[in-house]
Amino acid sequence: MLEIKAVSTETMAESQRIMEICNACRYCEGLCAVFPAMTLHREFSSTDLGHLANLCHNCKGCYYACQYAPPHPFGVNVPATFALLRDETYRDHVWPRPLAQAFERNGTIVGIVTAVGFTTVLFLLGLLSAPGTLSHAWIGPDAFYRVIPWAAMAITASVTLLFSLLALFIGGRSYWLVSGTKRRVPLRAIRAGLHDAATLTNLGGGGYGCNESDAAFSMTRRYLHHAMAYGFLLCFAATTTASFYAYALHWPAPYPWFSLPVLLGSLGGVGLIIGTFGLMALKFTADRAPAARVLAGSDFALLALLFLSAASGILLLLLRNSAAMGILLGVHLGFILSLFILLPYSKFVHGIYRTLALIRAAADRDMRKTN
Ligand code: SF4
Ligand code: SF4
Repeated sequence: MLEIKAVSTETMAESQRIMEICNACRYCEGLCAVFPAMTLHREFSSTDLGHLANLCHNCKGCYYACQYAPPHPFGVNVPATFALLRDETYRDHVWPRPLAQAFERNGTIVGIVTAVGFTTVLFLLGLLSAPGTLSHAWIGPDAFYRVIPWAAMAITASVTLLFSLLALFIGGRSYWLVSGTKRRVPLRAIRAGLHDAATLTNLGGGGYGCNESDAAFSMTRRYLHHAMAYGFLLCFAATTTASFYAYALHWPAPYPWFSLPVLLGSLGGVGLIIGTFGLMALKFTADRAPAARVLAGSDFALLALLFLSAASGILLLLLRNSAAMGILLGVHLGFILSLFILLPYSKFVHGIYRTLALIRAAADRDMRKTN
């Protein structure tokens, strides 16, 4: 049977030690999906531990509930240990394999790729556009393509996005082959897993929310995460609709205020701005004890990139009829290009692995009920 390789045996061993303590204690069984899934095991293989780590939503509830958390000599810290183990699973399943290193010092990598993507687009714009193009106020159909030719925009975006989607698919498949159930997953389990992913049930803390800065419960993080995730999906829907208009209907951008791409993009952009800004602000006030500090940079870098992509998009929308449009278009596309490249090599992958872990947990629950 395939096993997740122990990239950091220390983290794997620590996860195993903690799960053995938790399995004897079971005080947190009602907090989230991790503890009921844990009780299915007497011993924990690296595969089991990887699955449990990806089920964890980092709500920190079990840290504040735990009588064995530091300074107790047992030093049980589930959220911090599982965050490190999740990061190892991202490296184990990344495609192409040599890019596993991107998850080391991931915050720096995201920063560098963003800076390079952003500078390259602006540099090419300055170099290739005719004098005066960037400072002219272009209005009407084809206005964007007078600054950047349609073919250059379409080919660059399609190639990078399709490659990243392929890498995400191969990584997700590799994760499922190792950590997913070997049985046939019933449709109702897939529905239940997708429902838990879409509603972030495990950030709900049984109706009270999660813990950020202390033992007090709050729904703030869950709502901000919803704003960010659904904002991202709406922006993706806006891009897809705009591509359909341009490719299939030969209706060139920019589109009117009340067209579908603009409505979806505006709503999604505002959601992304609120969600990412709020989550970054929460990180500054959060208690550091239940967090894996080495991963703070990667979390923050992805939030910042999503925020900049959305904010530059909204600014472009508001100023698209002005002379600032050319530069703003370059800035926005620079951030979007970096985001497309980084999708499989940043914390973005957690959405896929977590959803797959939730589907497996739902399938395991289903099997327990029917046996
Ligand atoms: S986190 Fe602590 S309280 Fe909760 S199950 Fe584990 S050992 Fe028990
Ligand atoms: S941090 Fe939250 S989601 Fe993770 S194991 Fe603890 S209670 Fe469950």
